[in-house]
Amino acid sequence: MSNESASTKSLYGVKNPFMAHLKVARELTRPGAAKNTWHYEIDLAGSGMEFTPGDSLAVQSQNDPALVDSIINTLGFSGNETVPNPKGGDGTIRDVLTAVSSITEFDGKLLKAVAAKTGDTTLLELTAPEKKEELNKYYWGRDVLDVLTENPSAKFEPAEFIGLLRRLNVRLYSISSSLKAFPDQVHLTIATVRYESRGRQRNGVCTTFFADRVTEATPLPTFIKSGAGFRLPEPNDDTPIIMCGPGTGIAPFRAFCQERRATGARGDAWLFFGEINRATCFFYEDEWQSYLADGTLRRMDTAFSRDQAQKLYVQHQMLEHSRELFEWLERGAIFYICGDASRMATDVDKALHDIIAKEGGKSPEQAREYIEAMKTAKRYRRDVY
Ligand SMILES: Cc1cc2nc3c(=O)[nH]c(=O)nc-3n(C[C@H](O)[C@H](O)[C@H](O)COP(=O)(O)OP(=O)(O)OC[C@H]3O[C@@H](n4cnc5c(N)ncnc54)[C@H](O)[C@@H]3O)c2cc1C
Repeated sequence: MSNESASTKSLYGVKNPFMAHLKVARELTRPGAAKNTWHYEIDLAGSGMEFTPGDSLAVQSQNDPALVDSIINTLGFSGNETVPNPKGGDGTIRDVLTAVSSITEFDGKLLKAVAAKTGDTTLLELTAPEKKEELNKYYWGRDVLDVLTENPSAKFEPAEFIGLLRRLNVRLYSISSSLKAFPDQVHLTIATVRYESRGRQRNGVCTTFFADRVTEATPLPTFIKSGAGFRLPEPNDDTPIIMCGPGTGIAPFRAFCQERRATGARGDAWLFFGEINRATCFFYEDEWQSYLADGTLRRMDTAFSRDQAQKLYVQHQMLEHSRELFEWLERGAIFYICGDASRMATDVDKALHDIIAKEGGKSPEQAREYIEAMKTAKRYRRDVY
């Protein structure tokens, strides 16, 4: 079977997810870490669900019941009011706010309705097309409860209120296991999102659903989202691979290593990993050591940003080993990058250009062409979010 085919005939989707169950939850970060990252193992037994390393798992989570309560109380509802369920049929407003509607993200529909009730023209103007930038600033760090508490004179009927909310979307997670190593299971590597905004603690919907509320008994609606562009070379191929996955970006590369060990892949593999501290955030350290010992990995370079006076990131480690990295590229290596799209992916992309220019004796324009050729040949593969 080719690498592409397993996940393309997925049996499940957003409308008919598989109800999976959590089997194992293990914190990867150690005490003292600035944030918390967890390893989750989910049981797929009986599902017939198949996936390929590079795919993601979509999870339909539920909202924080404490936040649901606060909204219900602020609106003066009991929670038992019957409302149309946007998925079909009717339900109580509590159930719909818990499982169907988004109560963290919202859009102009809610703001327009609030402005219409309060007569707040400033709020209404924010929803004009030319005010996009201001509107994004307004959204940042605000949830539905903020909008209600900032506009106490806006009163709604239960069904009217539900009609103003967006749907609660699935969240995607890069799969961090291979079915060849762990049949009937899917592993995820998830950083829990928590922050404070406007004087209140905020919890990422899906990450804190996993961290705080999912038990073995909780049905987890899931399906596979194909990562068709993010695939390993065929197992008997000699193509070297370079994997750059700081933070939770490491997830698909754990799946890649498991798959390559199981298939006896021959090509060289080089892993770059980065996090904040070695002592608290070296995720799956023992596993990487075993892959280095048996040759699944040829080499691994790490960058722990706060372990020395000068901040050290994966792109610095790439530059440090620029000659070898360019040699690998010249041997036809595929370069994979996974993780943070906002800064890391840009910094790594720049480092790659600099390495090719320096080690290949190329002008910036020629380095750009070299990378374009890599992209055309599908040798530069990105899974960034
Ligand atoms: C293909 C793909 C693969 C992914 N793989 C992984 C993975 O392997 N592991 C992983 O952990 N994640 C992964 N993600 C991200 C994941 O899908 C979720 O976006 C993430 O876990 C947050 O989900 P949440 O529901 O907990 O947070 P949400 O409720 O969606 O909250 C996150 C949002 O909160 C806001 N926010 C965050 N911090 C602040 C702040 N300080 N101030 C104000 N607002 C803030 C931002 O708008 C942010 O988008 C992946 C995403 C994609 C698209």
